[in-house]
Amino acid sequence: MSSPKGLKRRRRFSASQPSADDSQLEVLEGLRIMEVLGTARPTKFDGIIQFDSPWIDALNWISLLLETDTSMVADIAVAFSVGDGRTTIHLAKANGQPPTNAESGCLAAFLRTLRLSFKENNLTLTESIRRRMTDMMSEMTLPEIYRKLSRIGTVQGGTQDENWDRFLRVILPIFQEGHPRGEESSGFCELAEQIHGLAFHSGHYSSAVMVETMKSFVLHDQCKPLDKLSVEERRRFTAVVMRLSDFMIHSTFFDAVLDSDGHLRNQLDHEDFMFVIEMCRRVHDIGRYALGLSSFAEVVMPYIAGKLGKEGIAQFLNETGGIAVQWVLRPLRSPTQVPRALYWPTSPSDKVREVMNQINFALELEPLHLDRMALRDEVTALWTEGSPVAPALHSELQLIRYLDSHNISVVGNVIGMNRPPCWACYSYLRILYRGEWGQRWSMSYSTGRPRGPWMIPPGCPVEVVDTILRSMQTRIYEAIEEYGHECYGQVL
Ligand SMILES: [Zn+2]
Repeated sequence: MSSPKGLKRRRRFSASQPSADDSQLEVLEGLRIMEVLGTARPTKFDGIIQFDSPWIDALNWISLLLETDTSMVADIAVAFSVGDGRTTIHLAKANGQPPTNAESGCLAAFLRTLRLSFKENNLTLTESIRRRMTDMMSEMTLPEIYRKLSRIGTVQGGTQDENWDRFLRVILPIFQEGHPRGEESSGFCELAEQIHGLAFHSGHYSSAVMVETMKSFVLHDQCKPLDKLSVEERRRFTAVVMRLSDFMIHSTFFDAVLDSDGHLRNQLDHEDFMFVIEMCRRVHDIGRYALGLSSFAEVVMPYIAGKLGKEGIAQFLNETGGIAVQWVLRPLRSPTQVPRALYWPTSPSDKVREVMNQINFALELEPLHLDRMALRDEVTALWTEGSPVAPALHSELQLIRYLDSHNISVVGNVIGMNRPPCWACYSYLRILYRGEWGQRWSMSYSTGRPRGPWMIPPGCPVEVVDTILRSMQTRIYEAIEEYGHECYGQVL
């Protein structure tokens, strides 16, 4: 007599081999611990601000245009494929969710603006795209740019005034000491000439202009509220912010911050360095809009126009073809909860306490102290035992799966995103292709931090899952060790 199905299945999973759900839950627990505990610990990603290739910049920018809110769900991945007088823009959100009305509206406005740029007679295509897209951004994207501007001055929890004071007191003197000729980038030198006249041009003036620009970024609260701006003011403001952020990320000062052997980095202590690099990272987030638009207008569109040819462009203009949009959507047959929810199997305190047993703390800690650490609010709030948790297949992995399974090759293997890939996606892709980051797919460098629930992609080879879990183990140990140091004083 054969045993019932359920029994058979249970027997298969009761061996040492963990089930897919077990591995998935382990990943979810690990990411949650990494995301919340010991986050002050620096990673190898922290000191880096990556400048991307023009195609990555341009595709990132398209995703940024569609970004209407900043929740994890809103991550959008984008890639272009070309062929036979036709270009397809492939887009995906996490779990293959459909676009919201706002996202569809932004995409429609983008295509409309592109059509108008093609039709414009008195400017070149590149010039027209620049001007029209900047105006479009002043209508659609400015609230998001405003929000990102307001973050620049609040690094490390300080107020804008405190942080500006710290910049002037600590950072600027060391920069000036290491760069006696001052700010030498072409952007700020030209701006200084415009303001002070040719006769006055010197490093002194360009430095002053750079410092004033940084000040306007840090003290963003001096900006007029968005709803008080007229259409013309919004356009001017958007153009100015794009220009100044572009100058700033190409400045001598920015170079000094990023130069790993430079004077600034050698002289600043770790905390001050983390302060200034985080500030620069947030300026770079604004600069991404300027970089992306330039790359789109100067590199991507001339390429696409060439591939479309006269006929393709004509079809695009009369809306019968040319450029198509394709969203990667989850199958209609499973409309809800894709992927299905799992349930947290352990209490976070038990899990963290278990890991603590495996760590050799370099502190004089008794089991009693470890118990106290595992019962603090930071740990108990990680998750609730027995409550549901929904893994999410992040947008870039959703897009890659789709492109692979349909044998679609995309230009430059480039994938654009509104945010750099998280630690889990980065680790997965690196392990999957057994190589350096960017070997198979070109996208921005990772932040090195987890972001929200993550899902092991369906069909992921077992050895890849094992390697992810192993490298995650190391990061969990580091996070909990760091957490131990952080709350050491309170548990004794
Ligand atoms: Zn991710």
